[in-house]
Amino acid sequence: MQASVINVGSELLSGQTTNTNLSYIARRLRRLGIVIARSTTVSDTEAAIHEALAMVQEDVLIITGGLGPSRDDITKESLASFFGWRLVKDERVFEAIRRYFESRGRTMRETNEKQARFPPGATVLKNQRGTAPGMVVEHGGRTIVALPGPPGELKGMFPQVEALLKKRRDDVPYQDGFLLVGRGESEFESDLQDLYTEHPDVELAPYASLGEIRYILLSHSKESLKQAKEAFRERLHKDILGRADDTLEGLLVAGLRQRSASVAFAESCTGGLVASRVVDVPGASDVFEEGYVLYSNASKSRRLGVSPQVLENYGAVSEQCAYEMAYLLQRKARTDYALSVTGIAGPEGGSEKKPVGTVYFGLAKAETTRTFHRIFSGDRQMIRRKASAYALSLLIRELQRHEA
Ligand code: AMP
Ligand code: MG
Repeated sequence: MQASVINVGSELLSGQTTNTNLSYIARRLRRLGIVIARSTTVSDTEAAIHEALAMVQEDVLIITGGLGPSRDDITKESLASFFGWRLVKDERVFEAIRRYFESRGRTMRETNEKQARFPPGATVLKNQRGTAPGMVVEHGGRTIVALPGPPGELKGMFPQVEALLKKRRDDVPYQDGFLLVGRGESEFESDLQDLYTEHPDVELAPYASLGEIRYILLSHSKESLKQAKEAFRERLHKDILGRADDTLEGLLVAGLRQRSASVAFAESCTGGLVASRVVDVPGASDVFEEGYVLYSNASKSRRLGVSPQVLENYGAVSEQCAYEMAYLLQRKARTDYALSVTGIAGPEGGSEKKPVGTVYFGLAKAETTRTFHRIFSGDRQMIRRKASAYALSLLIRELQRHEA
């Protein structure tokens, strides 16, 4: 089955907003075995939307944006004029929007009424995070889905779309996947070459982000999927940290909670990114004790007691400094684990011996402190993000090592 996506929004064409909805939808549809054959991005005008609609040939059309209350939100109206639909006010939806405002101490404006208007027969998609409901309409053998533009709202509503699309198709592939950290995509790919040829009826889709990579395996044969998963695990078990739906921070919080263990962080080049990622997880307070951003050399000595000799002889970006930061923090914070990160994010500050991207990590528990060393590529933000992923992975691995 094939899909077409139309993203409506002049801000997407002016460079103001990145079209993240398209990549999100593509990733989600791929897991349903639906391929996006065409995508169009158009401005907020009826003519542009009509032109894009005229090109659609696919079984599924997903159109995003322009469901808001303002004058330039004209997606539903343009769909209606193109397909010859009449839009009728749905009293229950209207009431729900009114309550949405009321519960936030605001009064609904008249302009919001149009958000409650739908073509007869439409399935209304609830929006818990905003006022614009979405809709699904079956028209001329095609499924047309309209979703609001704000990515948070769209994502919140997508499970409703998936449920409807799954019902419509009977050949959703079996799927599973892995989350990996440790090496680059190209290295994984070379390890996986023969897997592609040995399992031709399994589709292997890599999704790389900074410092981590997910592989989704899809197949219409349950048995083939199982075999390919085993083969995948055999080749890359050292790099696998979890399932494709897992996040590093989620795995870490769950792993620590399972052992009733606590953690503290001392971060230099990541500037609190590791702590921030952990705090993204609800319930982080069960396991996360404290985090320090110790950016200057002096602060590393003053707050934790890193010895001036270490800083002088080896520098702040050194195995010795990472060791002391983790070791001293574990004693100071009295946590089960302490993790330190110190490195050169660039673009300046590199040397021949320690190029930009050099990062040292320390992992301490009461009995032992170990250090790790990586050289990451990319710009400042990429290096920081990759370093945070690697730091999280070190402790996850430590927890998993004791599980096995
Ligand atoms: P709209 O639903 O058209 O009113 O969109 C509201 C806001 O959502 C826009 O101002 C953008 O910031 C954001 N947005 C709309 N479309 C997209 C998209 N395709 N990708 C990412 N953000 C979007
Ligand atoms: Mg818009």
